[in-house]
Amino acid sequence: MRRGSPRKRRRIWHFSSPREEAFFQRGAFSFCRRRCCGRLVRAAVTNLIVETALVLEQCGSVEKVGTGVFLWLAIMLVGLAVERLRPVEKGQPRSNIVLNLAYSIVRFWAIFAGAPIAATAAAVAVGALGGGVIVLPGAGWGLFWAIPLYMLAMDLAEYLFHRAQHAWPFLWAMHSLHHSDTALNITTTTRHFWIEVAIKVLCVYPFVNLLLRPSPVVLTANVIANYWNFVAHMNIRLSFGRFWPMLNSPQYHRVHHAADLAYANCNFAALFPVFDVIFRTYHRPEKDEYPASGLENGEAPSGLLEAIAWPLRRYLRIRPVPDTPDEGFKSKDLR
Ligand SMILES: [Zn+2]
Ligand SMILES: [Zn+2]
Repeated sequence: MRRGSPRKRRRIWHFSSPREEAFFQRGAFSFCRRRCCGRLVRAAVTNLIVETALVLEQCGSVEKVGTGVFLWLAIMLVGLAVERLRPVEKGQPRSNIVLNLAYSIVRFWAIFAGAPIAATAAAVAVGALGGGVIVLPGAGWGLFWAIPLYMLAMDLAEYLFHRAQHAWPFLWAMHSLHHSDTALNITTTTRHFWIEVAIKVLCVYPFVNLLLRPSPVVLTANVIANYWNFVAHMNIRLSFGRFWPMLNSPQYHRVHHAADLAYANCNFAALFPVFDVIFRTYHRPEKDEYPASGLENGEAPSGLLEAIAWPLRRYLRIRPVPDTPDEGFKSKDLR
């Protein structure tokens, strides 16, 4: 037992009022307090798991990262076979499909290589700010509200980011690659510029995880649900009739990909068109309304190299620049 009075621990942070101290103790700035390293590391590791799982969503499998690319390709090949049953466009050029499949492999490995860095940065940011405020249940009846709540929150974040992609030229320069496919089908799903996922991991997902802390079960359910994106891009005559606000359908999403600027700035939702209804950006297509897809000026990558360097293609002069610039990001609103 020590003799004398215990040595006073040095305070590295002084609060001006008990209220301020209470606020800090809730974890908002826990990294500024004593044992800061321990708290920061604990919060960062917890969120690292969450963020990494979100990134792995893009890789195709939570458990087996290495098989992710094969899972993507298998889904797309099965989807291409199903599309033949009731296609919107018959005889789509094979060169488009081959390009999408090849680009999908390149993009997968780009994500795989960059994911740990982006995930760590996002995890540290979320962890340092206190992590998820609402801890979602990981078992029992609580899953019935936790899973829909997390899916809705993530889909809202996706919706807002997608709006930004069509509003800001910097983001549209990348997102226009996804819209440049003149033969929309299941292989278009992964035709996103390879840096976009890192932007989302750093700038979009952390905001959801600041509010909600999902359990692995909730996270996995959301990952599986997001595979619906493959269906939404299929070249198939499929809609949900009067239930269209419930779930994104191939017809509903095809309208978003329309080359005609009359359809611009609508149907942004990834999973739930209800967000388009709330923000008044929906266009409910008529029974046989399946517009042609692509960019208004018809620009599209001529090969894999151009797809990889898409936003820089004009500077690299990979091929002649079209006379008319692509105005998709600032085209008129439907309403
Ligand atoms: Zn878009
Ligand atoms: Zn799309």
